[in-house]
Amino acid sequence: MRYPLKMTANLAKYVASQRFRGTKKFPMVMMLEPLHACNLTCTGCGRIREYKSTINEIMTVEECLTASDECGAPIVSICGGEPMIYPEIGRLSREILDRGRHIILCTNGMFIRKRLHEFKPTSSFFFNVHLDGLERTHDLCVERDGVFREAIEGIKAAKAAGFLVCSNTTIYKETDLKEIADLYSYLDSLGVDGYMLAPAYGYSAVQTSDIFMTRKDIREKFRAAVSLLDQFNLMVSPIYLDFLRGERELECTAWGTPTFNPRGWKGPCYVITDNHYDSYQKMIDETPWEKYGPGNDPRCADCMMHVGFETTPVLGAKRQLGDTWKMLKWQFGGHMGGNPDPNASNDTPTNGHSGGSSTLMPPPPANNDLVSSDGRLRVL
Ligand code: SF4
Repeated sequence: MRYPLKMTANLAKYVASQRFRGTKKFPMVMMLEPLHACNLTCTGCGRIREYKSTINEIMTVEECLTASDECGAPIVSICGGEPMIYPEIGRLSREILDRGRHIILCTNGMFIRKRLHEFKPTSSFFFNVHLDGLERTHDLCVERDGVFREAIEGIKAAKAAGFLVCSNTTIYKETDLKEIADLYSYLDSLGVDGYMLAPAYGYSAVQTSDIFMTRKDIREKFRAAVSLLDQFNLMVSPIYLDFLRGERELECTAWGTPTFNPRGWKGPCYVITDNHYDSYQKMIDETPWEKYGPGNDPRCADCMMHVGFETTPVLGAKRQLGDTWKMLKWQFGGHMGGNPDPNASNDTPTNGHSGGSSTLMPPPPANNDLVSSDGRLRVL
């Protein structure tokens, strides 16, 4: 099984009911950013740059829930910023789960150990830990030493407590795919349940173009990536992977993965900001969707982001015969739970960082260090 059966069944039921009602545009995954503050300053992150002036704003749990209820997407991807520094992340997650939704909590992993007690394991909840390579590479990408090792300790703690854990890797122009295969082998030995990967996309908020790829670059990179990484439980839809490899064209359906943050509903998508709307319906109704997508807007020319295209096989107009069978085969052909090796050594594999020593970084600061006396978030 590639994803938990309950999640797949709920999604299928949701899509069927939307189609039955004749809804033209409906969301599959809500990107919920309760805050933009983060304890890191990663090279490829647009959020901490685009929202610099409002970096300390956070939403209340109630604001998040109202937005999630209005949108109704069956999967909520809690991201940011770093959601594990959101003061009420435990309550927010519980309330969303209580509404029958599924959560993918995207984190850099540094505060999992500290805050694990605020969560309960369930098949509707994944910790999704961002890892862009082995120790040296990852710590370079996130611009801080010790992050890889703390994330690994977080993964081990979460797996030991019975949580579902997946990882998320951004593939850059310079990414060494062999290293990603080594990373996945290691994570498999820890029992990690699956692997998401996405091409880096150079949107305007990130002021460097050296690390990002054109469509041609992405296709070449993903052809190589899929043949090397297909043995692992890739949690990326097979039709989207065909698109990334250049074997199929898809149209952008950005409304399927809407983003909500302290400024409102971000239109048209996670990547481009032309407007913020105060309601989901307003964003759907007032965004001139026909003006976006490759060929329509120069900013979309090289975009192959999952937020624009991964839900297209379900939501788009150009569904092909055999797509449903392909998705079913993919779902039932997967294997969550990794390949834990009880005899594996405790050493964390490195690619040269820390001279291969196993010294762990100091534990993350206490919660109250993250929130200043006036209730505002302190960016570390
Ligand atoms: S093609 Fe990409 S950048 Fe353009 S609207 Fe779609 S998701 Fe956004």
